[in-house]
Amino acid sequence: MYFDEKNSFFHGIMFHHFHDENLHSKSQGSISKDDLYKIINFVGRENIINADIFFKKFKEKKLRSNEICLTFDDGIKSQFDVALPVLEDLGIKGFFFVYSSMFENKPDYIEVFRYFRQNFYKEINDFYRDFFRTLNVNLEKFFKKNKLKIDNIKLKAPYYSLEDIKFRITRDEYLNRENYKNLMFLLMRKKNFSAEKYFSRLFFSEKNLKDLHDMGHIIGLHSHSHPTLIEKLNYENQFNEYNTCILKLSKLLNISRKEIKCMSHPCGSYNKDTLKILSKLGIELGFKQIMAIEKDKGMKAVNNSPLEIAREDHSKIMRRVNL
Ligand SMILES: [Zn+2]
Repeated sequence: MYFDEKNSFFHGIMFHHFHDENLHSKSQGSISKDDLYKIINFVGRENIINADIFFKKFKEKKLRSNEICLTFDDGIKSQFDVALPVLEDLGIKGFFFVYSSMFENKPDYIEVFRYFRQNFYKEINDFYRDFFRTLNVNLEKFFKKNKLKIDNIKLKAPYYSLEDIKFRITRDEYLNRENYKNLMFLLMRKKNFSAEKYFSRLFFSEKNLKDLHDMGHIIGLHSHSHPTLIEKLNYENQFNEYNTCILKLSKLLNISRKEIKCMSHPCGSYNKDTLKILSKLGIELGFKQIMAIEKDKGMKAVNNSPLEIAREDHSKIMRRVNL
């Protein structure tokens, strides 16, 4: 039984990575097509409603507490290759939230880095060791200073190991984006890994995006360049992130920009400016990526506002399926 006292309200289920027997190798948090069937069964096919209906009922305030939708972030190719056939088989239409720089051959390197660290190291901790050794600074003080933050992440995302969290906060807080990238390029060079070779295996093509749209799935915004912490950008830069995304996606899909009405927050990051900007751009439904009320964000409810609708991570459901 999926629904309990903690999740009996309408929400989305958030998916990222899938694996199969051929192009898409198993990676941290990835699931197979059989896992997806299991999740859908566990949640109850009858509780899952198509993205367009979910959006319509949402606007009419008619969503019931057991109604959920399936959402897919980041334009990850394995969603198209592995998850889409399952959705088609069961007749489910999902939300696909896509950032637009991937269609300019400038994808978010976080996916490339992920692929690299999963496929070019025996295990993830080997990568972390190489990462911290190459960074070569004493981070003891930094971790001590951020102890509260680390504990907090562990609470919100219990599926992360302590090493995962230390790596993440070093990446996001200690290094800036540029320094992190440079460090990763250094590691990739050491292993003769050439990133561009993997773009078409990792990301949606323009045709994938069009096909999804034509099949009746909803394409929504996910910023232009997928910043890890968009809330740290000023108003103007945030505006450009979303405005560029809406322009590029509508152009690719050959639709009016007014037709794009939905979005999800990259890495769950946003602030008051973000919400203002999204309203201004005509966005009517936005998903965050947790099921909790974030008091530090001033939230009063789980589905705090139309642009802060809860989502459950598939990995949490997967663990319950496997119990
Ligand atoms: Zn994302």
